[in-house]
Amino acid sequence: MAKPSPNFLQGLTACFGFPVAENPTQAMIEPAYKAMGLDWRYLTIEVLPENLAEAVKGAKAMGFRGFNCTIPHKVEVMKYLDELTPAAAKIGAVNCVAIKNGKLLGENTDGKGFLQSVREHRSVEGAKVVLLGAGGAARAIAVELALAGASHITVVNRSVERGLELEKRIQDQTSAKTAFVPWQGTFVPDKSVDLVVNSTSIGLFPDVDARIAVSLDQLSDDCIVCDVIPNPPKTNLMRDAQARGLRTLDGLGMLVNQGVIGIELWTDGQSPDPKVMRASLEAIFGA
Ligand code: NDP
Repeated sequence: MAKPSPNFLQGLTACFGFPVAENPTQAMIEPAYKAMGLDWRYLTIEVLPENLAEAVKGAKAMGFRGFNCTIPHKVEVMKYLDELTPAAAKIGAVNCVAIKNGKLLGENTDGKGFLQSVREHRSVEGAKVVLLGAGGAARAIAVELALAGASHITVVNRSVERGLELEKRIQDQTSAKTAFVPWQGTFVPDKSVDLVVNSTSIGLFPDVDARIAVSLDQLSDDCIVCDVIPNPPKTNLMRDAQARGLRTLDGLGMLVNQGVIGIELWTDGQSPDPKVMRASLEAIFGA
């Protein structure tokens, strides 16, 4: 009997963005596929804003299992999808698309990835949160925290317009209480706060010496200080919180956890090993 022919057809996934060359997602997803025994690829693809519609059509035509979207496509891509998860609709942005039977489903895994990191340490139910920033990452984090039962979210942001917009979104889309505080000088969270989250880009490479204007002095010893910055994972905020004896969650945890959710969506529920993914990123970022 003839030997079965080898299979050269790989499962395809990707990240569409512009600029995207510095996005490390491929380096964490492909080792995860390998450890799962999947001969799949994750391509980093530069897609100009004016080419997004064609890129989405192309992914569908070529049988991609799905793709991530990063800057500047997270809102625009929603136009080209067949369905949104309820959370993605409330957040108003999609960073992960799954393609099943020719239909495109949009999800937002940023906030869910963050939530998973927190839940490894404490319940979110009833938590009082200070959220620094009101951009795309903040939006996803705020909505998911609120949907998971956080009781109060204080949004602190430099631009008043964006801060008010996020405050309104939390009020309209969830039952959490919220307040917006314009960021002037150093923000001082009080001792009743359970989570302080930096969701701004302050501290992102190459501005690694940047220091975020927040005081950790009054926080209780149980408070967890979180950062979304993946590169470098040890930001000044993480260092300062650790020096103060507080628990910290770095941006690599969120990045890995959102990647886990993406892989589960694309593979119909197969779970990758987050340790493999984190180790790949740590090797890159020298954590
Ligand atoms: P946006 O551009 O949408 O938002 C940036 C936010 O940072 C805004 O709130 C902006 O305030 C604030 N900001 C930037 N610079 C300053 C400054 N000097 N002083 C005060 N506020 C400032 O970006 P995203 O929300 O998409 O991304 C934010 C960060 O999150 C990035 O570093 C990104 O790498 C990270 N990220 C990490 C993920 C992970 O998995 N770990 C996933 C997604 C994002 P203003 O409104 O006033 O401009």
